[in-house]
Amino acid sequence: MQSQLKIFNTITGKKEELVPLVKGRVGMYVCGPTVYSDVHLGNCRTFVSFDLIYRYLLFKGYKVRYVRNITDVGHLEGDSDTGAEDKISKKARLEQLEPMEIAQKYTLGFHQMMDIFNNLPPSIEPRATGHILEQIEMVSEIMKNGYGYEVNGSVYFDTVKFAREKGIYGQLSGRKIEDLLTETRDLKKQDEKRNPSDFAIWIKADPSHLMRWNSPWSIGFPGWHLECSAMSTKYLGRTFDIHGGGGDLKFPHHENEVAQNYGACNCAPAKIWMHGNMLLLNGKKMSKSDGNTVTPEQLFTGDSPHLSKGYTPMTVRFFMLQSHYRSTLDLTDEALQAAEKGFKRLMEGYKNLLTLEAKGSDEDVEMNNRLEAIIREIFENMDDDFNSPRALASLFEAVTTINAIKNGHIAAEMLRDDVLNSLQSTFRTVLFDIFGLKEEQSDSSDYGLTADLMGLILKLRHQAREEKNWSMADTIRDTLKELGVEVKDGKDGTSWSVN
Ligand code: AMP
Ligand code: ZN
Repeated sequence: MQSQLKIFNTITGKKEELVPLVKGRVGMYVCGPTVYSDVHLGNCRTFVSFDLIYRYLLFKGYKVRYVRNITDVGHLEGDSDTGAEDKISKKARLEQLEPMEIAQKYTLGFHQMMDIFNNLPPSIEPRATGHILEQIEMVSEIMKNGYGYEVNGSVYFDTVKFAREKGIYGQLSGRKIEDLLTETRDLKKQDEKRNPSDFAIWIKADPSHLMRWNSPWSIGFPGWHLECSAMSTKYLGRTFDIHGGGGDLKFPHHENEVAQNYGACNCAPAKIWMHGNMLLLNGKKMSKSDGNTVTPEQLFTGDSPHLSKGYTPMTVRFFMLQSHYRSTLDLTDEALQAAEKGFKRLMEGYKNLLTLEAKGSDEDVEMNNRLEAIIREIFENMDDDFNSPRALASLFEAVTTINAIKNGHIAAEMLRDDVLNSLQSTFRTVLFDIFGLKEEQSDSSDYGLTADLMGLILKLRHQAREEKNWSMADTIRDTLKELGVEVKDGKDGTSWSVN
């Protein structure tokens, strides 16, 4: 008998059995990236977590509609909702490009990174700018229901009225409206709001603002939270099964999404809210806005003061799977080195498993029973809120026995044929279909060696440049180019990529 999938719901603070609204189908919405700069590893962790969740739902036999948006308008600096500049507009102004060029550039980079980490693409990837009409319609509905009010062409959501009437504002994040009201913020346009906790759902554009659309209230643009309410409703219906995102989005983003959906249709958007925990860098949250980041490229090349060497994408994916999606994960060089060893041991264990032959003529009942129990435990752990670290621990327990048989410490006669078959198919399914790991083109130690060698070459080039030995530095760069290796000098150091 298969166990039932239980998921931790942030709203109730409990693990709940997944009972889809429509039998056999799951609708899942996950907040995607704001495409104004290169994706960082923290973002990657969140999307690897939801990729694991998506893959496991597929494995369970559900027909999943996975919607993950691209935020290309409305997300203002400092996550503010008034007075600050739009992150994408700002980048466009600085780089003297069209906002759409910025969005395109970083969307492509994001997709490339998702591919490198072997994340499956979502079923639908809607963009905020492609859904302005739906967002305007939602603002109208919220206003019609009395929760939105217009001031000088901007429209705000009345959180106090909503909290009073519905009693659910703050349910997701645990914030209290009374506390929010006393928070003072010194922002332009703050005085347009009836209450300090209100948030903008439509913002009148300043004359200098690059991204702007016509609306019944002004030429302007939607508030950041609105896109997810409008697009989840459009593609998954007013109420759907799962809404996810990083834990830092609980407030204000998700709290305000819930308010908007109720405000527009008097119904909850999602039955289950899931939040992934943060990736830390040496104990501190990795964040684009704080500059406390390691880029994926730096991780692969080892070109960062935080790292002693480069690590392969699958080592990093394995590293992420080793912790539960609701726990914080601290990225350190030591932890990556341990993950590299662990990943190698797991893949070697799998290769050994494929070479085993079960003779079964002198069956060790206890061992075979244990191996069967391990197989069950892997799926029970995954059914228990996607507990990948515990599922991995079970795999490693099996690897110990597999290696012992391979090395002749345990006689092949003791292993039953049917147990070997189910071990082989379980490993294949779990490693590749559910965990999304893959064998790297070259052996991981080769990749590590390439990364180490590149590190050395770039160090020599750096030294040549410091000694003003320009011809040597150019020779290194040009020769690498001929070999198809592009070297890029940026403000965060030098990186390389293979064309
Ligand atoms: P952003 O591009 O900043 O809108 O973020 C995209 C996604 O990455 C959101 O779901 C964030 O919650 C998530 N995220 C941002 N920083 C981190 C981090 N350090 N660790 C894990 N997830 C993060
Ligand atoms: Zn969102």
